[in-house]
Amino acid sequence: MRIAVIGTGYVGLVSGACFSDFGHHVVCVDQDEAKIEALHRGVMPIFEPGLDQLVGRNVRDGRLEFTTDLPSAVAEAEAIFIAVGTPSRRGDGHADLSYVYGATEEIAAALKRPAVVVTKSTVPVGTGDEVERIIRKTSPDAKAWVVSNPEFLREGAAIEDFKRPDRIVVGTEDAEAAEIMREVYRPLYLNKAPLLFTSRRTAELIKYAANAFLATKITFINEIADLCEVVGADVQDVSRGIGLDNRIGPKFLHAGPGYGGSCFPKDTLALLKTSEDYQAPLRIVEAVVSVNDTRKRAMGRKVIQALGGDARGKTVGLLGLTFKPNTDDMRDAPSISIVQALEDAGAKVRGYDPEGVEQARPLMPNVEFCATPYEAAKEADAVVIVTEWDVLRALNLDELRKTMRQPVLVDLRNVYPPQDAAEAGFRWYGIGKPGQNEVAA
Ligand code: NAD
Repeated sequence: MRIAVIGTGYVGLVSGACFSDFGHHVVCVDQDEAKIEALHRGVMPIFEPGLDQLVGRNVRDGRLEFTTDLPSAVAEAEAIFIAVGTPSRRGDGHADLSYVYGATEEIAAALKRPAVVVTKSTVPVGTGDEVERIIRKTSPDAKAWVVSNPEFLREGAAIEDFKRPDRIVVGTEDAEAAEIMREVYRPLYLNKAPLLFTSRRTAELIKYAANAFLATKITFINEIADLCEVVGADVQDVSRGIGLDNRIGPKFLHAGPGYGGSCFPKDTLALLKTSEDYQAPLRIVEAVVSVNDTRKRAMGRKVIQALGGDARGKTVGLLGLTFKPNTDDMRDAPSISIVQALEDAGAKVRGYDPEGVEQARPLMPNVEFCATPYEAAKEADAVVIVTEWDVLRALNLDELRKTMRQPVLVDLRNVYPPQDAAEAGFRWYGIGKPGQNEVAA
């Protein structure tokens, strides 16, 4: 089958590479010439584990191509996936659909054969209707079905998620379109991935409902963590205690500095905008957004408290800057708010991240970036673990502390048992743990 994927970012590139690995012929399109030029040289524009090998193999085998020439890619394709960005629109939180509609106009003008036009981008309810309207207006004679097929992959585990999804949601009420989509995903039948057919509007909403639910789960346990700290309970045990209940499940119950990333913040806002437009309030999601926003900034205050309440003239080493491990994505990462809060309070920040520095640099221009966690800790008055990269899980705490000015460890992911930190001579602060200030060296 011939597939075109428009947008070669985290979702488009992974989807395109996986489709080609299934045996389809895929052309990935991007308007960013530098990205396509890099891909031609075999250089990945993003960091995603295993992606370079997957892309390399399929390019070599002639199933995967990259181009900036959208019309030529679309002309031959039986399935055209729109995987462009849908960031928050400045000001009102609505999803900015200009990239989706821009791509649709280009696709509509280039259609040469019957094809499904599939929105894989996360788009508000009703976007498919507008995509269809644009196609009808631009190319009234084209035979095209507009389908919604939201993507649920997680950055950092994107290939595995794409190849072994919990489910594939396809929004269409047209039998011919459904058949083409079945053909696209047929290779996944072996992996027993359930294919869920719904109406287009339902599929669009499923994606937002899923992300809002996960954001709610994280925010719930984060608030329980705050309660744990004041009542002397342990949030990790609470998570285990409730997560073992099959009705609740253990995932997304790790307390931390608040959710960030390229999806939850913008998708919860866009869902609220839809609820406002349709006058169907989503008060739980409203609370989640507000609690999470407050929390990210509060993490900066937590560090300042650990420094004794005054950060002026102090140096803080931040370890792990991306919004989660195994990605270079810095979009809406909690580290950005923490850096801002610390710098506002007069601290100097040194940062370390295994993959995110290039993307972090423009977002935190005053931060001094270091090549190792130990370098970031040098002469620091506190080190803060913001993102639990594997390389940060087994640090030599003695070595880390030796070069610091003050032995303060703020562990926003509860990576280190308090006792281990105390034994290494640290004053330790975590999330939702009892007696934090008592566990001192
Ligand atoms: P991204 O910003 O990494 O990539 C988007 C790409 O689209 C960019 O390379 C951009 O140059 C390109 N583009 C924009 N307009 C174009 C056009 N007209 N023609 C060709 N290329 C064009 O975005 P992403 O993170 O891959 O997200 C894409 C969509 O998938 C969003 O709607 C997002 O919400 C959704 N999504 C993302 C994730 C994730 O983990 N990143 C997961 C699930 C769903």
